[in-house]
Amino acid sequence: EQAPVAAQTSHPRGLYLLFATEMWERFSYYGMRAVLVLFLTKAMMMDKAFASKFYGGYTSLIYLTPLIGGYISDRYWGNRRSIVTGGLLMALGQFVLFISASSYGPADSHALSHQLLYLGLGAMIIGNGFFKPNISSMVGTLYSPTDSRKDAAYTIFYMGINLGSFFGNTITSLVGDTGNPADFRWAFLACGIAMVLGTVVFNWGKTKYLHTPEGEQVGTTPVSSPGVKGVFMLLPVLLAVALGILWLDSTRLNIIMPLLIISTLGIATLILSDKSLTSGDRQRVWVIFAVSFFVVFFWAAFEQAPASLTFFADEQMDRTIFGVTLPPSLFQNLNGFFVVVGAPLMAMLWTALGRRGAEPPSPMKMAIGLGLLALGYLVMCFGVKDIQPGVKVSMFFLVALYFLHSMGELCLSPIGLSLVNKLSPIKFSSLLMAVWFLANAAANYLAGFMSGLYPEAGKPAPHLLGFEITGIYEFFMVFVVSAATAAVVLFIFSRKLVK
Ligand code: GLN
Repeated sequence: EQAPVAAQTSHPRGLYLLFATEMWERFSYYGMRAVLVLFLTKAMMMDKAFASKFYGGYTSLIYLTPLIGGYISDRYWGNRRSIVTGGLLMALGQFVLFISASSYGPADSHALSHQLLYLGLGAMIIGNGFFKPNISSMVGTLYSPTDSRKDAAYTIFYMGINLGSFFGNTITSLVGDTGNPADFRWAFLACGIAMVLGTVVFNWGKTKYLHTPEGEQVGTTPVSSPGVKGVFMLLPVLLAVALGILWLDSTRLNIIMPLLIISTLGIATLILSDKSLTSGDRQRVWVIFAVSFFVVFFWAAFEQAPASLTFFADEQMDRTIFGVTLPPSLFQNLNGFFVVVGAPLMAMLWTALGRRGAEPPSPMKMAIGLGLLALGYLVMCFGVKDIQPGVKVSMFFLVALYFLHSMGELCLSPIGLSLVNKLSPIKFSSLLMAVWFLANAAANYLAGFMSGLYPEAGKPAPHLLGFEITGIYEFFMVFVVSAATAAVVLFIFSRKLVK
């Protein structure tokens, strides 16, 4: 038994099936996210502040539903059925958006396209809840618990995510963000097709490739059994969630933040009051809550990409290169590109440092990630300092920002994920993964709120905590200060967290 494991450096075929499935799904998610805010402002005629908040509300709910989807999968459906159901729902959602974007027009048809917009986004929110937690956890099930290839497997999987993001952002930007608002629909159509491809590929290969090293099928049955009563409870819960999302139109988005805080406090109480945990377990749980808190600052600034940073690319940036003017949303493909290119380099760096015994511990790496994020915005601040209205700045600044943000992401995101994995007491591992997702949900909500403060000519300067945001420089400075502060505080506490 021992010899082949030691010699094995290749990965099971199932990993590449999950890689391909996730690649198409992320194509669909990031591709859609690339043009969403532009669609809202340029076709649906929402103002920037409102569209920003709407975007934050949507992406926030995207990260909230995995809590429910993960639970249903663990108890009732198993991974496979959840992934296929989620994939079909998300494809359906994209096609509904395609219809919405095809039917907008004179004021009287607006109402219909708005309703279709909510319906499509609602389907994607629920679908993602089933899809995302299950595809991620299936990666680990292909290996034996002690297999040392697991970390590498997640790195390869993260490459799939970002290849999908790169192609999705590129294609939807080219077909949808043409300057003609009637073309946005092609972006949604492309995303719908991508989602169908992902689901079909998964469905085709699941029986053949998704098994343990011993050949036992994985993801076919729930982890724990539901009991009859549970099955009857499931349908009303799903129905309530669906109705809740439709009810949650943009004027009621403010309810999201209290919802997130209550959920987090609820989960914390549930876990920390469990009598079976040792004091060591409890300390590790506290560490998970602490790092989750810091990542909120990271994603809230990072997720400006499709919102305020795209407003900036649209209005203030010189996008012409070799005589061709690039669409503003196209620049978001740089994140996927830099992550794919940078991930192997970063891995080599950590290994080289590790050989000298100088590899930073995880919380320190996360602090570095926050530092790189602040640096990205600082570069941007140099670009926009004292610019006159109407004067455009070089695209260099945005490219440099996305480069630094992507390197920051590599220091924080995959590392945080595996940290949560390693520190969780087995009993609460899914629930603590949900805490990580809740941090993302809060961050995305804040990202939308913050992007809503992007200064607009002819409108009164927005306020934040008593400060007036008088221009773009001041706006980006907010992220320099918040990310740098979070980086320093995390850096100071990192020794304690490591302990
Ligand atoms: N880019 C990664 C993904 O799409 C991580 C995103 C996140 O955690 N906010 O899965």
